[in-house]
Amino acid sequence: MKTFDVAIIGGGLIGAAIAFELAGEKLRVAVFDRQRPGREASWAAAGMLSPAPDSSRDLPLVPLGRESLKLYPDFVASIEEASGQSTVYAREGTLEIFSGMRGETDRDYRVAECRQLGLAAEAVALDTAQQWEKGIGPAARAVAWLPEEGTVEPRSLTSAVMVAAQHRHVEIRSDCGVTGLVRERGRCTGVIAGGEEISARHVVVAAGCFSSEIAPDTELFARYAPTRPVRGQMMALKPDGAGLRRVLRSERGYLVPRRDGRIVAGSTSEEAGFTKRVTPDGLRKIFDAALELFPGLAGAEILETWAGLRPGTPDDLPILGPTDIEGLMIATGHYRNGILLAPITAKLVREWITEGPATFDAAAYSPLRFTTQKPQARTAG
Ligand SMILES: Cc1cc2nc3c(=O)[nH]c(=O)nc-3n(C[C@H](O)[C@H](O)[C@H](O)COP(=O)(O)OP(=O)(O)OC[C@H]3O[C@@H](n4cnc5c(N)ncnc54)[C@H](O)[C@@H]3O)c2cc1C
Repeated sequence: MKTFDVAIIGGGLIGAAIAFELAGEKLRVAVFDRQRPGREASWAAAGMLSPAPDSSRDLPLVPLGRESLKLYPDFVASIEEASGQSTVYAREGTLEIFSGMRGETDRDYRVAECRQLGLAAEAVALDTAQQWEKGIGPAARAVAWLPEEGTVEPRSLTSAVMVAAQHRHVEIRSDCGVTGLVRERGRCTGVIAGGEEISARHVVVAAGCFSSEIAPDTELFARYAPTRPVRGQMMALKPDGAGLRRVLRSERGYLVPRRDGRIVAGSTSEEAGFTKRVTPDGLRKIFDAALELFPGLAGAEILETWAGLRPGTPDDLPILGPTDIEGLMIATGHYRNGILLAPITAKLVREWITEGPATFDAAAYSPLRFTTQKPQARTAG
């Protein structure tokens, strides 16, 4: 029987980043993916690195996001060095655009809220913002500047992390779905992958929105990792005029510039099950928001449209940490922030598995919160 120190279920960015980190500790690590790795949410994401909350439900997430953003420069440097590939990381900041009569009041509230949460934010005059980004539309009434936010190209990053992990001798098995756990005397001692029994001292569940469904005949995964898919539609545009340097975001949507001049526009947030497709209604909402932010995109070329499934959870928070089954750990449910949260997730899993000193209090994200508390109502994120 093949034996590893750690078996990771799921080869998205989260599984790959954990594998890379653990292999740095000389552990024998395998990643199992039921398809070609890196083709789900991690492939679909916009790639904003933004710890700023979207709603009050996000507040418990802010410290984790802030910590992960701090880790990003070193994370991408080590990935780029180990893989020889670019992650297309940039740190140009975000301009948040406020419109309507309450624009200035809303902006001032947002700046104060961010500062209170330890996030850099400042009010900038509208004409200054319009000098920075010439295409900002006339609907804008006020602008907040979040200078520390960054972006990556998620497909490049995920591919680079995968290659970096392989250079550290991580075994990555494609088309090798996990269908169950191996358990001995209450302990988790491996996985059933591709019909084969694999032995591992530690098993990490990192299967994104599919985590709850790994073995539908047992309620174990749904108990510790109650994820669900939340669909997001996206499109990539090639402007026929002025481009963009910084992220533009409003409450209706966002525009993320890529280094090659493309602009990625998003997104929707839909409870549509596992159906992963774009719809006319979804794309119209994205167009409307994009053109309000940046009217010059009206003549842009549409290069690509796609949809992805965010790993949602009952309380919108990620699920991170050991379970009460020895040998079984969860690292999933990153919802709208898995690209941002990859470095801190990998670091925490390493600390838990190597029993190193815990450098961050992650109790709020424990998988045990669902087994001891009544889950909160679901909302569209
Ligand atoms: C439209 C959209 C925009 C987003 N924008 C951002 C953003 O700007 N910033 C940000 O931080 N985050 C963003 N996100 C969220 C982010 O993409 C996710 O949180 C993150 O990619 C989750 O990574 P993951 O590795 O957990 O899951 P995934 O990337 O979904 O990977 C899970 C993997 O598990 C595999 N798998 C499933 N079942 C099994 C099984 N039984 N056995 C083996 N393998 C299995 C799948 O094949 C897949 O490869 C966005 C998401 C979407 C959809």
